[in-house]
Formats: sequence, C-alpha cells, structure tokens
Amino acid sequence: MRNLSLLGATGSIGRSTLDLVRRYPEEVRVVGLTAHQQVAALAAVVTEFRPAVAAIADPALLPELMERVGATATELVAGPAGLEQVATLPECDTVLAAIVGGAGLAPTLAAARAGKDVALANKEALVMAGDLFLAEMAAGGGRLIPVDSEHSAVYQCLQGCRAEDVRRIILTASGGPFHGHPEIDLTTVTRAQALAHPNWSMGEKISIDSATLMNKGLEVIEARHLFISDGAEATIEVVVHPESIVHSIVELRDGQMLAQLGRPDMRGPIAYALTGPRRVAGVTERLDLTATPLHFTAPDLDRFPCLRLGFAALAAGGPLPCVLNGANETAVAAFLANRLPFTAIPAVIETAMAACTCPPPATLDEILALDSWARARASEAVAKMR
Ligand code: NAD
Ligand code: MG
Repeated sequence: MRNLSLLGATGSIGRSTLDLVRRYPEEVRVVGLTAHQQVAALAAVVTEFRPAVAAIADPALLPELMERVGATATELVAGPAGLEQVATLPECDTVLAAIVGGAGLAPTLAAARAGKDVALANKEALVMAGDLFLAEMAAGGGRLIPVDSEHSAVYQCLQGCRAEDVRRIILTASGGPFHGHPEIDLTTVTRAQALAHPNWSMGEKISIDSATLMNKGLEVIEARHLFISDGAEATIEVVVHPESIVHSIVELRDGQMLAQLGRPDMRGPIAYALTGPRRVAGVTERLDLTATPLHFTAPDLDRFPCLRLGFAALAAGGPLPCVLNGANETAVAAFLANRLPFTAIPAVIETAMAACTCPPPATLDEILALDSWARARASEAVAKMR
C-alpha cells in the first residue's frame, strides 16, 4: 500500500492517477493533494479522497477552497510552503510529481530531500536541475521512478539487466499531429491544430511540446539523468513511431533489443510506478497486435528543430538544459496565447541558448535565477518576433 501525495491532482496525469486510486483502493491511499488554480476540481477530490493535507498554489484561492470543502478533517493550505508541506508529509511515502513545468521543481526537490519515493511525471524538474535532483534523491534515500511513458518503458526493460550491458536507449516519438503531413505549412498552424494530438490526451503544454518535438528533446535529457551514469558509453536516440504502441526500446551489448508495448494510456506507466515490480490486473485495455501495424522512421530535425536543440543542450550540459526548458515554457505560453507563430518557438529557444554565458547552476536558488534569466531572454525574443 502506497501512501501518496499527488502534486498536480487536477491535471491530466493527476486525474489518471486518481482514477487508478478509485479502481485499486487496496494499492494506494491518498494523503496529500495539490492544484494551482482549479479550486472547484481540487475541492471535489478533497471531499472524495479526504487527504490529510491539500494545498492550492494560488494563495488568493484558499478562502474559496475552504468554503467549497466545508467542514473537514483535511488541513487546507496554500502557496509554495503549502505545496512543500504536501510533498514532505510524514504520513506520505510516495510523491507523484505531476505539476507541469518549472513550477514543480521546488516541491519535487523537497520530496526528494525528505526521502520520499518520487514517481516523476514532471520531466521539466529533472531537465532543469538534473544533478541537484539526483543528489537530493541519493541523500534522501528514496527511489526515483519514471512515469513518463518512454522512461517507464526503459525502466521496465532494464529490470534484470546490468547497466554496463546497455548500448543504446531508443525513445519512441509519436511525431505529434504534423508528422507525416508535409502538406501542412507549419508557419500558419493554429493553437487548435497543434493541440490535436493523434494518440494521447494530455495537458496543453506537453501537447504543444509533442507537436514541436521539444517533448522528445526534454525526454532525451530526462533519459540521460535516469539511465546513464557519468562515463557510461550508452547512447540515446529517437525514432518516430506514429502508433505509440512501442513505448521505447533498450539495445544491449549482445545486439539484442528489449521493448515495452501497450496502448497509449498513461494509467499503464502510472500504475507500474506505484505497484512495480508487482503488476495489478486489468490496468489498461489489451492490445490486438494483428490490428496494429507498427512503423518506425527517423525524426525530421529540419522540420522540427526543437529536437535538435534538445540534443544540443544534452551534449553541452552545464546551464543549457535549464535555459532550454525555461525558454521553451515562455515560447509555448506565447504560442498558446496567439502571440507567437508555431515555427518561431525553436527560434526563441535558440536565441536564449545562444545568449547564455552563465556558469552551470549548482543550488536551487541558482537554478531558479537561471530559469528566470532564460524566460526574460525568451520574452524579449518573443516581443521582437511578433
Ligand atoms: P496539466 O496541465 O494537465 O496539469 C498540470 C497540473 O499542474 C495541474 O494540476 C495544475 O493545477 C498544476 N499546476 C500548473 N501550474 C502550476 C503552478 N504554477 N503551481 C502549482 N501547480 C501547478 O499537465 P499534464 O499533462 O498532467 O502534465 C503534467 C506533467 O506530466 C508535465 O510535466 C508533463 O510533461 C508530464 N507528462 C504528462 C503526460 C500526459 O499524458 N499528460 C505524459 C508524460 C509526462
Ligand atoms: Mg513521454
């Protein structure tokens, strides 16, 4: 039985997680919940799951949360300190980090430091703060378990493998809504077109990242931190697999490949993160392989330069992954607000990366300062590109 604090309970991953809690009450008990501004949705799940503590990130909404929840044994808190309280509750052993973007970094690091097992969906936190994050996990003594479907696939494939036998990690990418449509002019695609992911139903930010392939750019950096220790020779590659059935592949020293397959349903990797290596029955619908031909092609880095930027930030290391992430968040927000064309997203990120002469950040304060710097450079670039 996991005693779970769920950061980002009202999002796509949060809702899938709570669906599993409803279906497998003997496996998971909710002890903490958080949300940003979705006060009605948070109040509803506080009433349903009765956690010890619930936090609303926007402090102005705490009175409304209290009013909506009414008489309750749940302690209702707010702001960054409230998120941290939920992430470090004594009655919690596992934190599922499902806040989107850099906003999730501080509470997720707090969970790591407090020795919680961290089930990580919030890949941006690891991209921004990889070394610090892993150091805090090691100091706290908890386990870091991937929730991102590709990384869950690699993690599952690696069970029983020796790290030194891994030669190549191949992350699959759906390609997003524009892969295989060379007739679509990317300079004029709309918000609605970019949000219409062919296989996965997800939050807005990651949906745009999937359309630009930045999601895979972030994921190659995430995979490096999760699976490849310093000095190891294994490489990370990306193949486009439009069906999203093979979630990723590990190639071993002897030339053999291991893959994990399943429907594109995040409840698969979330359930494995919470119960693995045990499996619980009937998490996702079964797959008919005869009904699903599988295809694999190389990604088009010229049409989707964000993936090239992800590989560049991975190779350069130092401050660049954090700058890549912060500038991407700013560019995606501007695109979603109809203030930036789709094809200008990589240009904004590249401008911020090229301007960076900063030293690698070591502490949380330095990481947050670098993140703010990257967002400011990206905002300037957005203003110039409109
Ligand atoms: P979402 O937008 O649907 O939900 C985000 C959650 O974070 C919400 O609960 C929201 O209230 C909270 N939040 C947002 N801004 C916040 C802030 N400033 N402070 C505190 N809380 C805040 O996002 P999602 O699609 O569920 O994605 C969550 C994370 O999981 C992302 O890092 C994403 O990359 C990753 N992920 C998602 C999927 C998916 O299928 N949705 C798959 C793999 C990885
Ligand atoms: Mg993924």
